Amino acid sequence: MSATINPLANPKGVKKLCELCQKPATLRCTKCRVTFYCDPDHQHADWTSIHEKVCLLLVSIHIPAPLHTLQADRDHHHTETLKKKEQLIEIAHLEAQRWVSKRRFQNVLPAALLHLRWAMRLYGSCAVQLVPAYLQLAQANIGLGSLSQAHEYLSKAEWTVMKTPGCSHIVLHQLHRTLGRLHTATGEYTSALSHFANDVYYASEMFGLVSTVTCGGYFLMADVFLKQNKPDIACSLFTEVASSWHTHLCMLMEGISQSGTQAEECFDESQCVEADQILRCILEFEEQCVKPRPSQSAMLAHSLAMLWLLSNNYTKALEYGKKAQVLIQGLSEQNSLKESIQNLLQHAEKHLQ
Ligand SMILES: [Zn+2]
Ligand SMILES: [Zn+2]
Repeated sequence: MSATINPLANPKGVKKLCELCQKPATLRCTKCRVTFYCDPDHQHADWTSIHEKVCLLLVSIHIPAPLHTLQADRDHHHTETLKKKEQLIEIAHLEAQRWVSKRRFQNVLPAALLHLRWAMRLYGSCAVQLVPAYLQLAQANIGLGSLSQAHEYLSKAEWTVMKTPGCSHIVLHQLHRTLGRLHTATGEYTSALSHFANDVYYASEMFGLVSTVTCGGYFLMADVFLKQNKPDIACSLFTEVASSWHTHLCMLMEGISQSGTQAEECFDESQCVEADQILRCILEFEEQCVKPRPSQSAMLAHSLAMLWLLSNNYTKALEYGKKAQVLIQGLSEQNSLKESIQNLLQHAEKHLQ
């Protein structure tokens, strides 16, 4: 990452604006030469969040259509550029999601803004394709405590969804989940719960009631019930979530042992980080309960062990596998769980040798 200060970067009188804050720019990325910044801090923030991943792609997007060539060549160039723009949007979306799942909210912003800006250029300012970017921006702002900013992005998302007849249930589930998060942050727990209920409804229409996507909504509801000092309801929701994840992970484990599928195909990094957070949070809750349930804790530790095994982190898999084994040792039943844990430990040990 380097930049040249170039006060004459504006020979044709076109004002160059900072990629992040839209203020007049004095710096330019020396690699792509098409991205501008007001100061080194903004350049650094953009580079870390997203620019490193898209700098070269931006160069190729800005190559002008060949002049004096056949129409077919120009059409081809147009199609290729369009594909690259779609690719750019996809990369920005995934990177922003990765930062969201790591709770690195400051890093979400440049990637999500790039996502939003290019989606606007490509699809227009009212298109439903803008909603995922609005939701990422809202979630980042909730995480950063900028609730009014989050509210603004969510209003735009709601308005866009309202103007889109037959909007997909995936978008609706994501919209309600983010609205629920905002209302949780502002302490409006009743509205938060009703948004999460809608989230769960739309997610279950798409993914089924026991899917891990749907149970993300239950998990967030449980968090609200804890805040309302209703641990019993939270506990029963956590139990649902834990059981959905356990079933899902057992199924994935069966898949890899049967087909030899590589673990990368099961999870992307964002999903793994999110699952880890959810499972660890529930395990912690179980361990702090007045009436501990060792079999429940063992199941959660087993889930975490499977999650890490599927993510090719055998050290962590072994750590949680051993924890699960200790938790379940004294219990008389649970033979199939005991066997699964034993198999997992063998599998992880083999990889670590
Ligand atoms: Zn700036
Ligand atoms: Zn660049």
